Amino acid sequence: MKFKGIMVICDGMGDRPHPGHGGKTPLEAAETPFMDRLADQGIVGFMDVISPGIPPGSDVAHLSLFGYDPYEYYTGRGGFEAVGAGLTLSPGDVAFRCNFASVKEDFTVMDRRAGRIREEAEKMVPAIREIKLDVEGLTYEFHHTVEHRGVLVLHGDNLSRQVSDTDPHKVGERVLRSAPLEEGVAAERTAEALNQFTLKSYEVLRNHPVNLNRIKQGKPPANIILSRGAGTLPKLQPIPQKYGVKASAIAAVALVRGVCKVVGMDLIDVPSATGGLDTDYSAKAEAALRSLKENDLTILHVKATDVASHDGDFEMKRHVIEKIDDMVGTIFRNVKGSDVYVAVTADHTTPVTVRDHTGDPVPFLLWGPGTLRSGVGRFCERTARNGNAGRIRGPDLIHELMNYMGFSQKFGF
Ligand SMILES: [Zn+2]
Repeated sequence: MKFKGIMVICDGMGDRPHPGHGGKTPLEAAETPFMDRLADQGIVGFMDVISPGIPPGSDVAHLSLFGYDPYEYYTGRGGFEAVGAGLTLSPGDVAFRCNFASVKEDFTVMDRRAGRIREEAEKMVPAIREIKLDVEGLTYEFHHTVEHRGVLVLHGDNLSRQVSDTDPHKVGERVLRSAPLEEGVAAERTAEALNQFTLKSYEVLRNHPVNLNRIKQGKPPANIILSRGAGTLPKLQPIPQKYGVKASAIAAVALVRGVCKVVGMDLIDVPSATGGLDTDYSAKAEAALRSLKENDLTILHVKATDVASHDGDFEMKRHVIEKIDDMVGTIFRNVKGSDVYVAVTADHTTPVTVRDHTGDPVPFLLWGPGTLRSGVGRFCERTARNGNAGRIRGPDLIHELMNYMGFSQKFGF
């Protein structure tokens, strides 16, 4: 007998007790009647997405959550970003994650997100595509994805992902020169191309009409493209072969879409899902329910928890978690009494006090027919610590889900 499953991944939802909020985490402070109910009736535990104390990036975390050991399969972030933006990568291509950013004339970074620019960024893409790179046998593609983000792909022979970022990752610091991180012509050519692209992006953007208008309105200009996370495509066995399931994913953020696509999931577009704080939670839940008619497994990713965390906004994070609970409630009302399993977890912890990813374990729940009732009453970091599923690693959750769904292969006779 085969069953269906939905895995809800709340980006950066895990947190730490907050001294300004009575020692509660945002998940503890939020009203989450549906997740509480699923946690109470199902199994609950703590998960080290990579390994105890290792802060995961979202791409590494998702690879792990889908059952792939990232130490074996991770080939840099940019490849996933490019695939998620709808580009087709060939073996050998090197892709970068990019930001529209604001710099002063001396290339000091004023805002890495150019005031979280959105649609206006798209209007500057044609100017960026006019850039000519003077590196033999090399071409490139540039695309805007969502908000202030974009992707750059270098096509050509003899390229390497072993090059450093131009993004200094910090406000107040100068834009960096990309340097080769290994010996050989390939890394040198790649770094040279990236440096040319970065400098020329400033030349075409600094006086772009969109930016002149932004300056007039007192907004930071998006006058340079910063790049980071060089990556290529990993070689892996896709989910349909690995587990024998047909899988789909609902995710708005290019990076996560890319990981889902690279592991063989069908991407489902939900036009009103933005990847931002204003995403359409009920449209996502309904899309997940619809997709279960044709798929065995559906991944439902929500980015907004991580956005609120990076902003250090406790109240916003609590609000987002309550919206996620409504979404889980929509799923619950439609699948209860049927043979659908629901898992809810986070891809990593992003404490609002730290405003970055940390290596703390994340809570998870798994609910459906035959799961052992935990009786924890609430879904949060504290109950997860004492949950009935114990402490597991990232790849274990999908294996547990596959086991309940009837897709696990017996090991031995
Ligand atoms: Zn994050």
